[in-house]
Amino acid sequence: MQGQMMNRPLLISGLLEYAEQVYPNSEIVSRQVEGGIHRYTYTDAGKRCRQLANALTKLGVEQGDRIGTLAWNTNRHYELYMGVSGMGAITHTVNPRLFPEQISYIINHAEDRLLFVDLTFVPLLEPLADQLTTLQGIVVMTDRAHMPESSLEGLLCYEELLDAESDDYDWPTFSEESAAALCYTSGTTGNPKGVLYSHRSTILHAQAICQPQAINISCDSTILPVVPMFHVCAWGSPYAATLTGAKMVFPGPQMDGPSLHELIETEKVTLALGVPTIWMGLLAYMDEIGKTLDSVESVVVGGAAAPVSMIQKFQETHDIFLIHAWGMTETSPLGTISSCSREMKSMPLAERYPLQQKQGRPIYGVSLKIVDDDGVELARDGVAFGRLLITGPWVAESYFREDHPENFIDGWFDTGDVATIDPQGYMQIVDRRKDVIKSGGEWISSIELENAALGHPAVAESCVIGVAHKKWDERPILLIVKKLGEAISQDDMIEFLTGKVAKWWLPDAVVFVDELPHTATGKLLKMTLREEYQSYLLDR
Ligand code: ADP
Repeated sequence: MQGQMMNRPLLISGLLEYAEQVYPNSEIVSRQVEGGIHRYTYTDAGKRCRQLANALTKLGVEQGDRIGTLAWNTNRHYELYMGVSGMGAITHTVNPRLFPEQISYIINHAEDRLLFVDLTFVPLLEPLADQLTTLQGIVVMTDRAHMPESSLEGLLCYEELLDAESDDYDWPTFSEESAAALCYTSGTTGNPKGVLYSHRSTILHAQAICQPQAINISCDSTILPVVPMFHVCAWGSPYAATLTGAKMVFPGPQMDGPSLHELIETEKVTLALGVPTIWMGLLAYMDEIGKTLDSVESVVVGGAAAPVSMIQKFQETHDIFLIHAWGMTETSPLGTISSCSREMKSMPLAERYPLQQKQGRPIYGVSLKIVDDDGVELARDGVAFGRLLITGPWVAESYFREDHPENFIDGWFDTGDVATIDPQGYMQIVDRRKDVIKSGGEWISSIELENAALGHPAVAESCVIGVAHKKWDERPILLIVKKLGEAISQDDMIEFLTGKVAKWWLPDAVVFVDELPHTATGKLLKMTLREEYQSYLLDR
């Protein structure tokens, strides 16, 4: 027997309508690409999203069309999120940090019909224009006064498009399983792969992340998504803010310490989200000026492991709980979260930090398991480690227009990560499968070594890779970027690490470098480093 409840589709337009009706005066504040701060309410945003939908209709956009964006976190990008998906087209967020050939690859692969671009990225687009075969128009996200001189022909002006339209538009109703947004992985090997989110997956994910035991977003929150809207939809935070009526603060193109601090202080941000490197910059700046982040209650850190030194710094200097989260483009992204649980609250800090450092527990909706190379499930004892598999309504079932059966096994997605799961359900990432160091048949976690090294006050950034070794096949070497003006030797580092990790994990060499390469999503580009340093220990 079927239930007899309404089957009202979960649509992104519904989020916006809800915020307009229930939290009309809640604010959306943006640092603009042209400079200055823009401030308006969900009521104003709703009107402009409907003007945008009318403009897109006039430009011939139909349901299912892909509309690309090359843009920072701003109110205009937010309007595209809501307006494009709301009318049934698909917001395709393009990561401007990808290599130019990857940018043209994904715009063509997605067959984007229109591209909305921030002023910053017009020069990036100019040399690519000839290769972008499916584009019927490029819209610069600015007003007439700021329209750039460009070799690109027929550029449209965002504000003019909106000004020409009425804000009277009825959002269409369609299946909640329709595609809403498209995001490509950064593709460290091979071409980037597209993940096509549905309205349903987006809304279920947004509801899940708002929970108190997840990121805890409510109408009382003021959230600052520093994680870019071109990287897994800013972790779903713009949707989550809309469904709670939270105040949203967009940092625009300025993500340096002083700019973030200014926004946090003037807008009284309570919750900020970003990758570890962003917080390193902000924390260093706060130390420099000797101030604390008083309004912030928690920061969400994901995309790469949060080092324990960062967890400690936020807690002990700023009284901020660092919520460690794990996920990937394929998982919308939130998979697990290490929020402040009842048991954590009662623990002494020294006991709490190691638990907080784990990537946390799955939120309701997703399930995890770890398996060995034969697919046999391993014990949830916090010790056994294996391939991490995930399933749930906001986990990809396949890639956009590409077959990768090796990633999808019996309804589970193989994350490519190696992890442990403990009896309380906390998952901890040991490493990316391709980054784990296999020394004489035993495994060494590059992440754990990096984090231990980061605990040294002279270290700005650390990276551990496995390189060829005559006796042990592979041994770890540690690459370090020193903080400005700091001195530290290989012997100092080895001494510092001794006792913090198993003796046989100690790196065979410590190499001091000026900088480390990163992927388009800010992760260490270990593949390049492995190539560069593969015979480092053989040559010595
Ligand atoms: P990319 O496009 O760079 O692959 P993703 O965000 O999809 O970007 O990357 C997902 C990967 O990032 C995960 O599989 C995992 O290896 C790593 N990752 C994400 N969050 C964490 C975390 N909290 N700790 C350790 N690794 C993480």
